Amino acid sequence: MKGSMMDYQLTLSSIVKRAEALFGAKEIITRLPDRSFHRYTYTDFTRRAKKLAVALAKLGVRPGDRVATFCWSHHQHLEAYFGVPMMGAVLHTLNLRLHPDDLTYIVNHAEDRVLLVDKVLLPLFARFQDRIKVEHVVVIDEAGEAPEGTLSYEVLLDDADENAFQAPDLDENDAAAMCYTSGTTGRPKGVLYSHRAIVLHSLASAMAGSLAIQESDVVLPVVPMFHANAWGMPFTATMVGATQVFPGPHLDPVSLLEDYQQEQVTVTAGVPTIWLGLLQTLDKKPGTYDLSRMRALIVGGSAAPEGMIRGFQERHGLTVVHAWGMTETTPLGTVSLLWSSLESEPEDTRYKYRAKQGVPVPLVEIRARGTDGYVPWDGKTYGELEVRGPWVAGAYYNSPESADRFTEDGWFRTGDVVTIDPLGYMEIQDRTKDLIKSGGEWISSVALENALMGHPAVAEAAVIAVPDERWQERPLGVVVLKEGQAATVEELRGWLADRFAKWWVPEAIEFVPEIPRTAAGKFLKSALREKFHNYQPPTAS
Ligand code: AMP
Repeated sequence: MKGSMMDYQLTLSSIVKRAEALFGAKEIITRLPDRSFHRYTYTDFTRRAKKLAVALAKLGVRPGDRVATFCWSHHQHLEAYFGVPMMGAVLHTLNLRLHPDDLTYIVNHAEDRVLLVDKVLLPLFARFQDRIKVEHVVVIDEAGEAPEGTLSYEVLLDDADENAFQAPDLDENDAAAMCYTSGTTGRPKGVLYSHRAIVLHSLASAMAGSLAIQESDVVLPVVPMFHANAWGMPFTATMVGATQVFPGPHLDPVSLLEDYQQEQVTVTAGVPTIWLGLLQTLDKKPGTYDLSRMRALIVGGSAAPEGMIRGFQERHGLTVVHAWGMTETTPLGTVSLLWSSLESEPEDTRYKYRAKQGVPVPLVEIRARGTDGYVPWDGKTYGELEVRGPWVAGAYYNSPESADRFTEDGWFRTGDVVTIDPLGYMEIQDRTKDLIKSGGEWISSVALENALMGHPAVAEAAVIAVPDERWQERPLGVVVLKEGQAATVEELRGWLADRFAKWWVPEAIEFVPEIPRTAAGKFLKSALREKFHNYQPPTAS
């Protein structure tokens, strides 16, 4: 027997309608390239999103067509986040930190028809512009300037009548947006998000017991709108009517701290490298900025070291919320909030849990496959994490060669090696390709990195496997010291020896001025492996 509820489609149009009806006066603020602030209201935003939909239709964009963006985070990008899917087209955000060859491949593979680009990014765009086949290039600039051969975003919007917008009948399973993974191996792969997936993901992100984003929040995603939809925050924030602040190209710690203070930001989100920099700045100038309204620094994308979580909490009264996700999971998968049963545990135990990647949000299921089937939830046994849920990719876009990333019974293989404890907290130990196998036993590079980054003199640390005659592989620590601080190899080894079994401690630690990064700001371990591929560590005993 079927239920007798309405067949109401879960689409982004319903989010826009709600924002229009309820939050008209709320503000959206953008830091412009010249560092000044642009402010407007949700009414302005919904009006302009509709204008964009009308303008794109006039250019010949039809439902299902891909519209790419090559942009920083700002209000026009938000207009595209909604204006493009609202008219049935697919928003394709391009990661501007990728290599021009990858960008060429991605635009051509997705068959983007229109591309929106920031005027300040035209020099970057010029590096692959001649190699892609888009029909229209639309330039975003507050003053409406656009070079010859391109269209001006502002002029297109001026010429469009928002009242001419007619919402198409969208199916909730229609594609709304698309991102390519910025993996460090192989070709980038496309993930096509449906309207339904984004709506449900927004609900899950807004839930109490999850990220709990609500109307009273002032949200600033540091994670760029070109990376995994800024973790869905623009969608979630618009659904609940939160004030939204976009940092534009200014992602340095001081600009962010100014934004937080000026706009009284309550929730912000980004990768650990951003927070490590921010923590150092705060440590140098404690008390300079008023961050009293900030309730959560959401950290994901790479492991948040426990030392960093403690540093923010103990020295600055700021709460880090650790979360895990992937481009393929829209991206929210797990959040590390403490179950009530942990409230009475000693502080050290609670920090240990907060440093784990956390428990799955409702509707996301997790399991981990080891060498002999699925591993027990004992917090000890390693396995590759598999996930499924309504906002988890079921396939990559036009990529039959990656079918092996999906199991026969319909789960997605993440490539993350994890343990899951009896309370359901998942902890990432490594990427499958980054695990270190020494003398037949696994060593977690992530655990060593986190511990190294907990040392007072260490700014950043990565641990990679280097070949070893006796043990096949041994860990090598690669460390960036904090400005003006010193530490010896022996001191750091001693620090690790206090925390790990003897055979986990790397014999060698190299000091470097910086660790190379991926397009998403994560440590690029493949570059380190290349750099140290002939490395001869002192033999382990
Ligand atoms: P991306 O699709 O670029 O967002 O990358 C997803 C990958 O980032 C995951 O498969 C993990 O390897 C890594 N990742 C994301 N969040 C975390 C986290 N909180 N801790 C450790 N690794 C993470």
